[in-house]
Amino acid sequence: MITIKSDEEIKLLRIAGNIVYKTHQYLKSYIKEGITTKELDRLGEEFIRSQGATPSFKGYEGFPTALCISINDEVVHGFPSDRKLKNGDIVTLDIGACYKGYHGDSGWTYAVGEISEENKYLMEHTEKALFEGLAQIKPENRIGDISAAIQKYAEDHNLGIVKELCGHGVGTDVHEDPKVPNYGKKNTGPRLKKGMVIAVEPMLTLGSPNIYLDDNNWTVITRDGKNAGHYEHTIAVTENGYEILTGDINNG
Ligand code: MG
Ligand code: MG
Repeated sequence: MITIKSDEEIKLLRIAGNIVYKTHQYLKSYIKEGITTKELDRLGEEFIRSQGATPSFKGYEGFPTALCISINDEVVHGFPSDRKLKNGDIVTLDIGACYKGYHGDSGWTYAVGEISEENKYLMEHTEKALFEGLAQIKPENRIGDISAAIQKYAEDHNLGIVKELCGHGVGTDVHEDPKVPNYGKKNTGPRLKKGMVIAVEPMLTLGSPNIYLDDNNWTVITRDGKNAGHYEHTIAVTENGYEILTGDINNG
């Protein structure tokens, strides 16, 4: 069921989203060669709690940690561990925070030190694919308009679309209806309405989009070992368009 949020609920979702945004800002400066992903997770959880929120993903269907941290060919749901970031890696921090029962969700891929041209290409165009999708958002447009715009942009840039995973509604649950796929047809799917809150999150790859599930039953990894990028914002549909609830991660 797709829920329409009241102005009061949007206020809380805005606070939750802003906490997610500030957590990204806080962690950005720690993304350097030598730090373990476990340490990033610890810092992130501490920061989220310092804001009066709780990490949305910790304990979610048994997920063990506050953050999902995925390196290189890991697409999503990487487990923080003793693995150290290396110069040239790309790393995605997927962060969720719950404030007074309402969630925010945003994933973002970062460079560790100097990265290759192909990784820069992947990051630049996965982020742009997110904004191509967001540009479709206004009342009476449909979910398929977002999906089709992301698919077109990814295909025009020769990037693989991971189809098993998709965006979603956000509210009192971190994953609600509707599903927001990263591929599809214009003019299909549920209509957008003012007060709907959704996370849009293209996950694109440099090679084939085929994936497998790690032995830990969570982490999604590309079969061909090529890298993946992931950019996600939680947004609210407004009268004329949309409001990003999880902030301007590049310019903050
Ligand atoms: Mg999400
Ligand atoms: Mg996320």
